[in-house]
Amino acid sequence: MTMTMHTPAPAFYLPAARECDLFELAHDKGLPLLLKGPTGCGKTRFVEHMAARLGRKLYTVACHDDLSAADLIGRYLLVGGETKWVDGPLTRAVREGAICYLDEVVEARKDVTVVIHPLTDTRRTLMIDRTGEELAAPAGFMLVASYNPGYQNVLKRLKPSTRQRFLSLSFGFPDSEAEIAIVASESGLEAGRVAPLVRLAGHIRALSGMDLEEGVSTRLLIYTAKLMTAGMGVDDAIRTAIIEPLSDDDDVKTALADLVATVY
Ligand code: ADP
Repeated sequence: MTMTMHTPAPAFYLPAARECDLFELAHDKGLPLLLKGPTGCGKTRFVEHMAARLGRKLYTVACHDDLSAADLIGRYLLVGGETKWVDGPLTRAVREGAICYLDEVVEARKDVTVVIHPLTDTRRTLMIDRTGEELAAPAGFMLVASYNPGYQNVLKRLKPSTRQRFLSLSFGFPDSEAEIAIVASESGLEAGRVAPLVRLAGHIRALSGMDLEEGVSTRLLIYTAKLMTAGMGVDDAIRTAIIEPLSDDDDVKTALADLVATVY
C-alpha cells in the first residue's frame, strides 16, 4: 500500500472556481467530499492545499485493487515477539481529527465500502471489529475520495449507495490561461514557451475518446516543461513526456506527432 502522510505545508494551488470555499464548508459541516475527474488534473494538489489551509494533517492513500479494509483500519502485527495493534491511515485520521484522502477509491476492494459507510453519514463512526472499538470522528475529521469517471470500466463504477453519501465536485483540466500559469510555475519554464504546449494539449484532448483513452494531463505538461527547462529540445521533450506516455500504438503516435507539427 502506498500511504503518505503530509504535515501541513503550503502547496501552490490555482483555483478553477469556488472549490476552495466548498471544501471549507464541507469540512466545517463534517461532510465527505468526492472529487471526480481525469488523472493529473489537480485533485491531489487541491486536497493538499486545502489541508494545509485548514491546518489539518492529511493522510493520503493511493487505492489499488488489493487494498482492503484492514489496510485502512489497521491490523495486529508481531512487534518484537509481541502482538500489537497498529492503526491504519484511516483510523489514525479519525483519532487525530485529520483529513483522509482515498485516491482512486473505486480501485479498492469491496469491503472498503463497508468501512466508509458509517463514516459518511450522521453516525461519523469507525468500527474496528478486531479490537471491538467504535470511534466517533471528531469535528476536524474529513473523508475525501477521488475517482476517474473516464475509465470505461463498468465493473469499476462507484455504486450509487456510496456516491450518494458524498458531496461531489467535478474537476476538469484548467482553462488555457490557468494551465499556462500552473505549468510555468511548476516547471520554471517561461509562459511564452509554455503557451504552445498548452495549445497542443487542447488539440490532443479534443482527440481523446477516439484513439486515446484519455487526453494529456497537466502533470505530463509539467514534465515536458521541466525537461525543456533542463535544456532538452521541444521535440524530444514532447516525445518523452507526452507521446510515449499516452500511447503504445504506432498509428496513434504518428497522429500525435502530426498534431505537434501543426503547433510548432
Ligand atoms: P490528480 O490528483 O488529479 O491525478 P495532481 O493533483 O497530482 O492530479 O496534479 C498533477 C500536477 O498538476 C500537480 O502536482 C500540480 O503540479 C499540477 N496542478 C494541476 N492543477 C493545478 C492547480 N489548479 N494549481 C496548481 N497546480 C496544479
